[in-house]
Amino acid sequence: MNVPSRKIRLIMELRQNGVSATPVLAAIERVPRDVFVSAPFSDQAYENTALPIGCGQTISQPLVVGLMTQALDLNDRHKVLEIGTGSGYQTAVLARLCRRVYTIERHGPLLREAEARLTALGLHRTVVTREGDGGRGWPEQAPFERILVTAAALDIPKVLVAQLAIGGVMVLPVGKESGAQEVVRVRRTAEDALVTESLFPVRFVPLVDGLPPRDAPGA
Ligand code: SAH
Repeated sequence: MNVPSRKIRLIMELRQNGVSATPVLAAIERVPRDVFVSAPFSDQAYENTALPIGCGQTISQPLVVGLMTQALDLNDRHKVLEIGTGSGYQTAVLARLCRRVYTIERHGPLLREAEARLTALGLHRTVVTREGDGGRGWPEQAPFERILVTAAALDIPKVLVAQLAIGGVMVLPVGKESGAQEVVRVRRTAEDALVTESLFPVRFVPLVDGLPPRDAPGA
């Protein structure tokens, strides 16, 4: 099966499983996922599955990318903070739907690969990257209308809530690495008021404190 047919099959699978927002489906259709996976896995790029990207991390399953992006309810005026750049795939999907994405990754080698891909796709003017601990957010750029965390936190991080605009929305997986995790949507309805709802079960790598001791080149 060629790439366009695989892509159509994937988009249909996402629709059948709850991704109904046309702009989200269009953004996923426009982002070439094969660019974000490494050579041994390129034949699986349009399968609805997570794949290894190095440094012990994974590119998220397309259905999860679709559902989480849809849950953010983005528009082209939004400034978005993303924690966990990984391959940059989710970043690219966000970049098609909002004004600017600020994205943080703790593994330098992953971030540099993601930057190269985003530049090759012409998204470098929409995306600003940082190597660091996303648990601290990006205080210089706060507040954000939307925050997306793509690694599982044990609880809703207070530091990130403080960087969410009033009326803003954060979507994140919550739960232990080995236990049940769910995607939670948090709305900051007032200075001190949050409304949270559980959306669906999921399985993510953990949100890890601090920076790795030392990234092996090309790891
Ligand atoms: N959205 C990514 C999936 C990334 S997997 C994609 O589409 O490819 C989760 C990523 O979060 C990993 O790359 C991991 O290194 C990163 N991560 C985990 N804890 C982090 C932290 N505290 N700060 C920044 N990045 C973190």
